[in-house]
Amino acid sequence: MQNGVIEFLLEMLKRQSVTPNECGIFDLIRQELSDFQCINVDSNGVKNIFLYKDFSKDKNPKFHLCFGGHIDVVPSGDGWDYPPFGGVIDNGVIYSRGVADMKGGVASFVYAIKKIKEFSGILSILLTSDEEGDGIYGTKIMLEHLNNINLLPDFVLVAEPTSNEVLGDVIKIGRRGSINGRIVIQGKQGHVAYPNKCINPIDLIVPILPKLSNVELDSGDNDFLASRLIITNIAAGMGVVNVTPNDLEIMFNVRNNPLTTQDTLKKYLDSIFGDLPYHLELKQSSYPFITHSRVLVESLRYAIKDIAKVDCSLDTGGGTSDARYFSAFGVDVVEFGLLNSSIHAINENAKVDEILQLMDIFEVFIKQLESNIE
Ligand SMILES: [Zn+2]
Repeated sequence: MQNGVIEFLLEMLKRQSVTPNECGIFDLIRQELSDFQCINVDSNGVKNIFLYKDFSKDKNPKFHLCFGGHIDVVPSGDGWDYPPFGGVIDNGVIYSRGVADMKGGVASFVYAIKKIKEFSGILSILLTSDEEGDGIYGTKIMLEHLNNINLLPDFVLVAEPTSNEVLGDVIKIGRRGSINGRIVIQGKQGHVAYPNKCINPIDLIVPILPKLSNVELDSGDNDFLASRLIITNIAAGMGVVNVTPNDLEIMFNVRNNPLTTQDTLKKYLDSIFGDLPYHLELKQSSYPFITHSRVLVESLRYAIKDIAKVDCSLDTGGGTSDARYFSAFGVDVVEFGLLNSSIHAINENAKVDEILQLMDIFEVFIKQLESNIE
């Protein structure tokens, strides 16, 4: 089969590496890149690996390009038409848990890197077995170590499945952050027949609700959509018809762009609640970021056009990913990979042709970035 990349991928797919199990996949990858130096950082049952090679030999490496990702997968669930860890190819399509998210991406960049013989800098791979879980002991831990030993990359491509309709149509150049919130409005419980003696928190929230629910907190910018406040839960009362509730709780989330922060959100909520007796808790679980490097984005755009003949659009939507950790260390990061239509779903799949194309795109990308930097 095609130069080994598909066999290598199938071998990874047969390992049931549900988070945080690594199932020996890092050894498989080390065998593929046997002339790369290896750093392992394990923490709290999570295995992380960093493989790197300085191609510049005695010269100074011009720059350091890293491919990032994860080999862990979410559980398969029931109802598959194929064994979820069988690596079955049917009519040119591979069906397996993790083939799109993101062992297909990992196989593609490992084999793209294998093809590189000449390079003027450092090429590396950073992989974790804990991206689908909490992500606390994964990429972040390895980056702290690389920072300590002065080996942080200049550029990173995370091969998460970003494509929507066709391979290459979407790359991610940043991500929104995420702020979780909880509001409690204090009332005074009482008999429904004596409303004057009660303070019903439902009455208090009604005039405010239109300024909360799905409200735009900013107007967005060239890179980001507006940040919206999305209510996820409202709870009050004890499930009876003759007692008014003592308090009311609202839970919400804001996927925030850089224009909205915890501070501006708190100010907005204070302004609409005014003197009402309300208690607010906010917790930022991740921060928004945007890639500033044009050369990184343009090199990837060029490679996608060259191989897949597609004009990619630049996106910052969707959930959070490990890319945020690279950004937190000041590393420029883009995300690009296979189609995401079946990820985490039953019968997760990817086409053999798309994996081969992705490998070719990565190879052109490496060369294009190098020539753009020269
Ligand atoms: Zn993923």
